[in-house]
Amino acid sequence: MNNLERLILYYLAGRVFIPAPRYLIYNATWRCDLFCRHCGVWEAKKRGELSPENLEKIINRKFFSKIDTVWLTGGEPTLRPDLNRLARIFRLRLPAMRILGIASNGSATERVISRLEEILSELDPDRHGLFIQLSLDGIGEVEDRIRGKQGVFAGLSQTVKEIDLLKKKYPERKIELGFNCVIQRQNVAQLNEIKEFAVSKGAGLTFNVIEITDQGYNNKQREEELAFHQEEKGEAKRFLRKLISGSEPGFRYHYRSILSVLDGKTRNRRCLSLYSTLVIDSDGSWLPCPLCSEWMRVNFLEMDPGKFWKGKEARALRRKAAQELCPSCMLSCSVGDSLSLREFFSGGF
Ligand code: SF4
Ligand code: SF4
Repeated sequence: MNNLERLILYYLAGRVFIPAPRYLIYNATWRCDLFCRHCGVWEAKKRGELSPENLEKIINRKFFSKIDTVWLTGGEPTLRPDLNRLARIFRLRLPAMRILGIASNGSATERVISRLEEILSELDPDRHGLFIQLSLDGIGEVEDRIRGKQGVFAGLSQTVKEIDLLKKKYPERKIELGFNCVIQRQNVAQLNEIKEFAVSKGAGLTFNVIEITDQGYNNKQREEELAFHQEEKGEAKRFLRKLISGSEPGFRYHYRSILSVLDGKTRNRRCLSLYSTLVIDSDGSWLPCPLCSEWMRVNFLEMDPGKFWKGKEARALRRKAAQELCPSCMLSCSVGDSLSLREFFSGGF
C-alpha cells in the first residue's frame, strides 16, 4: 500500500466505507514454551488450532485478495510443525501478499531456524519477503527473568547469529530481522542497552509499553507486580522522549501517543487496526484486537468473514472499542496507517 492509499484509508475508513483488510494475522497457537511475567498466554486455557485445510477454507475467498502482509503470531508459532503448509496456503491463496512476518520469542534456536527455512522454501523468491520479529525485553539475566526461564537470552542471541547466516545462505531472498520490546518495570533501566543491542545487529526495534488487561495478554492477575511505580514511569517517559527525535514519522506518532497516555491524556489519532487488519485466532475465530479479544467470538469456519467484516455486529464493536479502549491504548497496532496530513506531505513513511 502506498502513502496515498494509506491516507485515504485513514480518513475514510468507517466514515465513508469499510475497506477490505490489508493485513492478515493468524494467531497460530496459544501454546508457548516461555513463561513471561507480562503475558499470560502460556497459562491461559488452550484453544484449538486450525488445520492447514481449514485455514485454507477460510481464506480462499475474494475478500482476502488485497492482503499484502501476513503475520504468524501466537503464543510461539514455531511450536507448530506445519508452518510450511500454512506458508504454502498463503502463497497460493493470497495473490497480493508481499511480506510474510513471523513473531517469535527466538529462544529455541534450532527449531526457529528450521521453521524459517521451511517457510522460505514455500515462498516465492520474486514476490515474497520474510520478516522475522523477535521479542527482546531485556539483556542477559533481565530477559531470562522476564521470560521465566534460564538461558533465553543466550538462545535468542544464537538465533540472531543464525538468522544472519540464513541471510548469507540465501543472498537473493528478502529476509529482514526486527525486534519488539515491551517496556515494563523490570527493563526500564535497560532500555538504552536494548536499543544498542538491536542497532549492533542492524535490526529495527519497536518499543511498546506494557498493557495490563484481562483480554489478549491475560495478565490482569499480576497487576500489582506489573504496574509501573512513579519513578519507573518517569524513566520510561524520559527514554521515549529521547527516542522520538531519531524515529521515523510512524514511530514518532506512536511514541508521542504513549507519552500522552502515560501523562493521563489520550492518543491524538485513531487506530485503524479494526479496519485494516483481520486477526484470526488459532481456532478460526475473530480476535478483534489484543484489548478486546474476548468481546465477540465468531468462528470463520461457520461465518463468512467478508459478510461479518461489513456487518452490524463488527461495526458496533469498532465503535465501542473506539470509545472505550482506543483513547488510552498504547499499542503500536496500525501505526503504519496513521499518517497525518503533514507527514503525508513531507514524504510519509
Ligand atoms: S510474550 Fe511471547 S514468549 Fe512470552 S509468554 Fe507471551 S507469547 Fe510466550
Ligand atoms: S487503539 Fe488499541 S484498543 Fe483501539 S483498536 Fe487499536 S489496538 Fe485496539
